[in-house]
Amino acid sequence: MQDVTILGGGLAGLSLAIQLRQKLPKASIMVIEKRKHPVPEAAHKVGESTVEVAAHYFGTMLGLKDHINADQLPKLGLRFFFPAGDNSQIEKRLELGGQRYAPCPSYQLDRGRFENHLGDLCIERNIDFIDQANIKDVRVARGDAHAVDFDINGEIHTIESKWLIDASGRRAFLKRKLGMQKESPHIGNAAWFRFSNRIKIDDWSNDPSWQSAHSGLTARWYSTNHFMGEGYWVWIIPLSSGSTSIGIVAAQEFHSISDFNSIDKATTWLEKFEPQLADVVKDNRENLQDFRAIKRYAVECDQVFSRHRWGITGEAGFFHDPFYSPGSDFIAFGNTFLTDLISRDLSGKGFRIRAFSYDRIFKRFYYGTCTAYQDQYCMFGNPTVMPVKILWDYLIYWSITAFIFMQDRMCEQTMYMRNLGRLKRLGKVNHFMQELFRDWHQQTKDRPRTDGVIDISQMQLIREMNARLLEDLDAKSFQRRFAANLAQLETLAHEIAIESGMNKEVPFDLPANELVLADSFEGVFHGHQRIRVAPEPVTAH
Ligand SMILES: Cc1cc2nc3c(=O)[nH]c(=O)nc-3n(C[C@H](O)[C@H](O)[C@H](O)COP(=O)(O)OP(=O)(O)OC[C@H]3O[C@@H](n4cnc5c(N)ncnc54)[C@H](O)[C@@H]3O)c2cc1C
Repeated sequence: MQDVTILGGGLAGLSLAIQLRQKLPKASIMVIEKRKHPVPEAAHKVGESTVEVAAHYFGTMLGLKDHINADQLPKLGLRFFFPAGDNSQIEKRLELGGQRYAPCPSYQLDRGRFENHLGDLCIERNIDFIDQANIKDVRVARGDAHAVDFDINGEIHTIESKWLIDASGRRAFLKRKLGMQKESPHIGNAAWFRFSNRIKIDDWSNDPSWQSAHSGLTARWYSTNHFMGEGYWVWIIPLSSGSTSIGIVAAQEFHSISDFNSIDKATTWLEKFEPQLADVVKDNRENLQDFRAIKRYAVECDQVFSRHRWGITGEAGFFHDPFYSPGSDFIAFGNTFLTDLISRDLSGKGFRIRAFSYDRIFKRFYYGTCTAYQDQYCMFGNPTVMPVKILWDYLIYWSITAFIFMQDRMCEQTMYMRNLGRLKRLGKVNHFMQELFRDWHQQTKDRPRTDGVIDISQMQLIREMNARLLEDLDAKSFQRRFAANLAQLETLAHEIAIESGMNKEVPFDLPANELVLADSFEGVFHGHQRIRVAPEPVTAH
């Protein structure tokens, strides 16, 4: 009998196999994948933009830095453009992003190229990676002999294994089989397509001062560029194969998917909301590589880890929203919990209680992150509120989830117990803030704010918190830093609440630590500032 069978060899399944192999050199691991390898580059899947957790997971934890540096692209962070007039002049739009690379790296991944590399590594590392195998059925055991039937060239094979992991993406074998589907209250739709050539937003304006801010390796096209509007955002992501990925993501209550679910309709939709991009799409039609649309992309699940030796990772379980590119982060979280459970079991240690608590922790992270998206698309085109919200959301991420994961404390149960009170309190603070952003949006939604650059690489707090992700802290320093992070967020919440002028009673006390906002967020609140930095040596990762 096999030790582990993984259903689906996409990003989640292949990376889990590699992570398991690192921990368990002798385990028998099989990955069953329907598609033929190598898969096509560029026009394969979405999930191309990574943020800090996923970059750390793939680059450092799985040891894929050489591949990433040689065959993928560095990412100049997330960059946002807010509405100005009819959106026909990019230089007139308020821009939020970094002029320099952040200390902690992130990458743009060509998913086809990446999955091909992962597939090769699996074979190299003695993982039984079977492609062109169509899974037909799974039988989940209560004990430890799960069974999978799969079809290769019309012949049915059956494999039994101790652990069964569902990484089959939206096919979601286990979720369906065990009746664990849950409707997400967050209703969003998306469409995306790829062009075989590079689209450089840097060429969209002739304004010399706008152009001179970015050049060479810090050109704007290296970022994941977001064009923001009421109820929607549009991405442009460069891929190392030379292609460009473009996507429209919109909340159902603002934009119906039937308005953009074909290339012609998407072009018409862009003409109305993002005319500069519409022109680019029309000019590049002959370079179109694919077009896809997805209705209700948010999916949920009752349970992802079980003491009965099954687990779910990637989109086969949960996915909330692509804004801030968190999909691969949750693959990193799920895979890390699963690797710990499986390696404990196969080395004779207890795993059952942990399966229960990891399941709860995973879902807490998921639902905590969800608050950044749910009911928030209304304000996506608000240039007053949205920059503050984005920086708040970054800091929440860098202070809690990214901090815990990158300090390698994800599976430390005592850490959660020790900080439970603080985490609960912070959950409430975040809820309060997301509600405040919504109310603030109602007051300011018609207030224009254009023609400015908020260069987050100049913001000390932002840069420092990002840099701290790279530190290697001992247990005591981790605990101290964690407490300081949470206190800082509470202070910041107070200051944002005051600065927004919303007169909203803050339901918690101001911690007795230094104010953090005053200088750091200056440009975000008062806008219209154009920060220019002296050229610095570029550190593309
Ligand atoms: C619009 C949108 C934009 C996104 N953007 C980002 C982003 O920028 N950054 C990010 O990190 N995440 C992003 N995501 C999320 C990201 O796409 C997912 O997290 C990721 O692709 C999930 O990987 P996976 O391995 O779980 O699923 P998949 O990559 O879908 O892999 C599942 C595998 O299972 C295989 N399979 C299915 N059925 C069978 C069968 N019967 N037999 C055998 N094999 C089978 C499939 O062939 C596939 O290879 C985005 C998601 C959406 C919807």
